Amino acid sequence: MKQGNFWCVGRNYAAHAEELGNKTQSEPIIFLKAGSSLVSKGQEIELPLWSSEIHHEVELAFLFDENLEFSKLAIAIDLTARDKQTELKSKGLPWSLAKSFKHSCPLSEWISLDDIKSINNLKFTLSVNNQLRQSGNSSNMLTPPETLRKYVLEHFPIEPGDVLLSGTPEGVNCVRPGDLLVAEITGEISAKWRVSKTK
Ligand code: ZN
Repeated sequence: MKQGNFWCVGRNYAAHAEELGNKTQSEPIIFLKAGSSLVSKGQEIELPLWSSEIHHEVELAFLFDENLEFSKLAIAIDLTARDKQTELKSKGLPWSLAKSFKHSCPLSEWISLDDIKSINNLKFTLSVNNQLRQSGNSSNMLTPPETLRKYVLEHFPIEPGDVLLSGTPEGVNCVRPGDLLVAEITGEISAKWRVSKTK
């Protein structure tokens, strides 16, 4: 199955919406990251030259299988050019530049959901240079994974191999050249990326 696009959800954790001064919405906010923005586990992340504020957003990722059901789980980092996003948001313009740049989506290996007790109680974390930056639990999602799956299927041309990124908890912050990022789903997955020292 070919790696597809990343369908992403904004403001799906109340505490994160608050930290950016955003209101939560009753209908999910969906945006797209190109599938080609993928950075596989262990690969070095190159930051773009045109942003001075790349933020990490650790997120649970769900894979759409042949039946467009979720059968696999991974951990992803929705890298975001926050300076650009703030500028675009203030002008009412789309976010693609801030969200879908080259290397904007580090993604771990996939594990089967068959062995997972509940996708609505998954703990996940991100640490940078061995310091905990973000810690979340899927139980705090405003819209849970199954509801999101149905919502995106109803509104978008989803294909097998596409991925849903389910939103980030609070604690987003800057990523800098040379940083070591470790994203984990507690007891299930641990994935590391080094940010390139040269921009
Ligand atoms: Zn995000």
